[in-house]
Amino acid sequence: MVESVLKKLGQTDNCVLDDVFVQAVSEVLTSLELTIRSDSRYEQFAIIERLVTPDRIIQFKVQWLDDHNNVHVNNGYRVQFNNSLGPYKGGLRFHPSVTVDVLKFLAFEQIFKNSLTGLPIGGAKGGSDFDPKGKSDFEIMKFCHAFMRELHPYIGARIDVPAGDIGVGSREIGYLFGEYKHITRNYDGVLSGKPYAFGGSLMRPQATGYGVVYFAREMLKEELQESLEEKVCTVSGAGNVAIHTIEKLQQLGAIVVTCSDSDGTIYDPKGIDLALLRHLKDEGRRLSLVEYINTHPHALYTPKTEYPDGGHTVWHIPCFAAFPCATQNELTLIDAQKLVENGCVAVVEGANMPTLPDAIELFLREGVLFSPGKASNAGGVAVSEFEMSQNASMEKWEFEKVDRKLDELMRQIYKRVSLTAKEYGVERNFVDGANIAAFKRLSEAMILEGV
Ligand code: GLU
Repeated sequence: MVESVLKKLGQTDNCVLDDVFVQAVSEVLTSLELTIRSDSRYEQFAIIERLVTPDRIIQFKVQWLDDHNNVHVNNGYRVQFNNSLGPYKGGLRFHPSVTVDVLKFLAFEQIFKNSLTGLPIGGAKGGSDFDPKGKSDFEIMKFCHAFMRELHPYIGARIDVPAGDIGVGSREIGYLFGEYKHITRNYDGVLSGKPYAFGGSLMRPQATGYGVVYFAREMLKEELQESLEEKVCTVSGAGNVAIHTIEKLQQLGAIVVTCSDSDGTIYDPKGIDLALLRHLKDEGRRLSLVEYINTHPHALYTPKTEYPDGGHTVWHIPCFAAFPCATQNELTLIDAQKLVENGCVAVVEGANMPTLPDAIELFLREGVLFSPGKASNAGGVAVSEFEMSQNASMEKWEFEKVDRKLDELMRQIYKRVSLTAKEYGVERNFVDGANIAAFKRLSEAMILEGV
């Protein structure tokens, strides 16, 4: 079944690195093989074919002027994948690596992630190949305004609610919201991740990272009767997810010794100085991590070129638990072997699909607890839904309330995933557990809504 669907998607190989959409579909379908055969309605309603086909892909030209009045053109996209469970929901990514294939993969992952939250949200993803690096604040504003001029007809509080992702934080969401309001005169929750000053939810910036750690805490407690206190943890990335994962890990008493950016890795055996990391990576600044060692000479900086075989320095440092929080396909088989060799007991994904399929296989075989991003990083989109809820009722919730609800939701996701894995005879396989649990909710809605 997996092969025939992949063939239809124009792909005969099971997994190639430069086709992340096929990689994501392949992983999900492999998990679902038995489930699909267990109920004839899936075939009758062509659920799999419908599930792997996006509802629509919107592509547009974004033209904007830089500070010297030079004209630039970028591609803009929104992939609205599935709205069976609720309005399309998912982030916007601004990064030169953005292509239709990448956004299709992210939107496909999003429908499963959003289903796992149990909340009424469908799945979408969008963005642009625009590179925010080195752009002035005004250039960012002009780009965001130009992007929204093209996107606005396709979104709405009950239609499609974009949010942030790589390269898109509350500053960008603010500019996008401002332009949407100019054009439509409609002041509603059309975007989430807004600044708190006008409709944003408290804790949205922290939500993904905190959620990752809440999930990890629950998983370690239930599976190994372990805590994170005084445990050495490694984190990759230096963006919003990584920073808040590090923050929550430190609050729980863990010692986080790494972080990384696209140029290299910092290893600080005394524990990452979060205030310094924040200072270096502040939205407007985005300095290289190499600057870290200027004030912390005891720390080690390794440029990315160090491992030409595809390995990543972060995963070669011994740890109790590892948190890939940078981007897709950043943890290879070589890295997984190193982690297993060094006695790592848990890998908890903060990014979307950062671990390669053969690396996941190794973790599962070796009994390393492995949580896929669609389960452990769902806290971000969940708090986005809390923001939609606050906007719709014109309410503002306290920080503690959002935090409590997030913690509770992450524990529920863990329970859903682990119980499903048990029920389907693949105990502790949280990849299958997540895919099956998400699929069951989603497919039920698709069947009930008809074709
Ligand atoms: N981009 C985030 C994700 O990957 C958040 C999406 C949202 O808040 O809608 O889930």
